[in-house]
Amino acid sequence: MARAWKPEGTRVRVGQVEVGGPGFVVMAGPCAVEGMEQTEQTAAAVAAAGAHILRGGVFKPRTSPYSFQGMGEPGLRVLAEAARKVGLPIVSEVMESTQLPLMEDYVDVLQVGARNMQNFPLLRALGKVRKPVLLKRGLAATIQEWLLAAEYVLDGGNDQVILCERGIRTFETATRNTLDLAAVAVAKQRTHLPVIVDPSHATGEPELIQPMALAAAAAGADGLMIEVHPRPEQALCDGQQALTPERFQQLMRRLPGVLSAVDRHLWMPDLPAHVVGA
Ligand code: PEP
Ligand code: MN
Repeated sequence: MARAWKPEGTRVRVGQVEVGGPGFVVMAGPCAVEGMEQTEQTAAAVAAAGAHILRGGVFKPRTSPYSFQGMGEPGLRVLAEAARKVGLPIVSEVMESTQLPLMEDYVDVLQVGARNMQNFPLLRALGKVRKPVLLKRGLAATIQEWLLAAEYVLDGGNDQVILCERGIRTFETATRNTLDLAAVAVAKQRTHLPVIVDPSHATGEPELIQPMALAAAAAGADGLMIEVHPRPEQALCDGQQALTPERFQQLMRRLPGVLSAVDRHLWMPDLPAHVVGA
């Protein structure tokens, strides 16, 4: 996957959205799908603010077995319905390969969570799938280990891989994880794959998400993944780090300024020729 092998970079298509081209792509939504009302409200809010892809977990890798584990299949139907209403494609986490046939029916991008980054049988199974994969960096994975995990998917025949830096575990405790923005630049230098940043899990705190999201855009990331919840204090998962729709909207308003400083822009659909004047 060396950059030299494909200097122009891989562009990953998700519906009509393209990740890894000049357009910067924002994925947003709740940590977990909790029900129809919450998912529809969030989908409507993030779509209105300009997000391009709806996120939402239905299989949740929780530290405690007693925490909410996700809605499973009924959650996929809720997510698909909410996404359809606002016209956004979906990214959602797959935890094991047995879930793939089901997930493939509903989901446009298959997310591999940090805790599964080195689940090699899952990575091999994803190499055989004809859908894009979002590969999160492991909690304590070196950049090299992360890139080799991506190589498992590519080696299986699926080159539609998006890398996601989501913070790593360090001695620092002021933030949930330590956002390694240099890893974005390194991954862009060493691979031809798109790289996005998840400042929600990287910081764990709403006040820190906007500055780190803007920094990720400046650092050359191809996009963001952000957790949003209409009522963060009631969220069943990761409420402490969820942005309210208002805060998310504010971030979306600030992104274009930073992107233009590095000759990028928010992703936009191709305008029909008669609009462009061609
Ligand atoms: C998530 O995206 O909700 C998630 C569980 O992320 P990570 O795997 O990065 O912890
Ligand atoms: Mn989460």
